[in-house]
Amino acid sequence: MISEILPDVYRIEGDYVGEYGYLSAYLLAAEDECLIVDPGTAGSPGEKILAAIRNIGLQPSEDVKAILCTHAHPDHVGGVKNIKKRTRASVIIHEQDAPLLRDPAMFTKSRLKMTLSDRIVMKFEKGPLRVNYDGLEPDRIITDGDLVRFGNHELQTLHTGGHSAGHCVFYDPDRKTLFCGDEINNFPHNPRKFYVDLSGNLISKRSALEKIRDLDIDFLLPTHDIPHLFDDVNVQIGETLEGVIAFQNCLLEHLKIRGEADIEQLVFDITKSNSVPYPKEMKPLLPTTVLVGLRSLEKAGLIYQEESIWYVNSH
Ligand SMILES: [Zn+2]
Repeated sequence: MISEILPDVYRIEGDYVGEYGYLSAYLLAAEDECLIVDPGTAGSPGEKILAAIRNIGLQPSEDVKAILCTHAHPDHVGGVKNIKKRTRASVIIHEQDAPLLRDPAMFTKSRLKMTLSDRIVMKFEKGPLRVNYDGLEPDRIITDGDLVRFGNHELQTLHTGGHSAGHCVFYDPDRKTLFCGDEINNFPHNPRKFYVDLSGNLISKRSALEKIRDLDIDFLLPTHDIPHLFDDVNVQIGETLEGVIAFQNCLLEHLKIRGEADIEQLVFDITKSNSVPYPKEMKPLLPTTVLVGLRSLEKAGLIYQEESIWYVNSH
């Protein structure tokens, strides 16, 4: 399904991926140029993006200025190579996610904390998290504050770095719209539910969300599932922020109760007590978020680690 959700902003619906909802790629047009935000997986929405470009009277081979990647996870950039081949678009990403764009296998090798069997399952998986596609070299590296121009229009880059080290969101001041990738509403049915990879950072995520809260935003367009066109956007942002804070408090509480614990024990406690809304279908990814959460508590001086055991700092 392709729908014009705002003037000259189109949502192209990809596959339904369970707790992640529907994958959405966005197409933005300005004068005789267009730009794609997050083209999805190696399979979806794929060809629908090219059809959408033709539908609005533009030529895929001529008029696509850029493919903008919020970050390099497989469900956001798996489709980049094919779209790039069929257009003259520049592929744009933050430098901290560029290595993963070049080498998708890094996702299972260094960005996840998973058991061997879960890794093997993921390697052969053909769904949104399939990591067996070719990487590519980006054409442009962006950083916080950079502008991305197309036609008579421009988007502002904000480096958020929470969900993954190089995650960026893109703000359209004319339409008061934020393309938020996976930083807000990572799991569309519960804004308090989130996931970060091992390069991610909860301290960055919190400060980025606080910065975003101060922007003038009418429309929040996440990659997963429906855009927030009619909701109170500040409620969504606030709930995401509260979810991060609640998760960190909860981790600290579980560690206090045990006195000392490794990641497996903490994952067990969170799962058993249902103390935070973790993604059920994506349970193999929970240890990754827990480890990143522990690192941020360590940075705050609240806990410390010896070998792979974590302790509460009593001073
Ligand atoms: Zn992601």
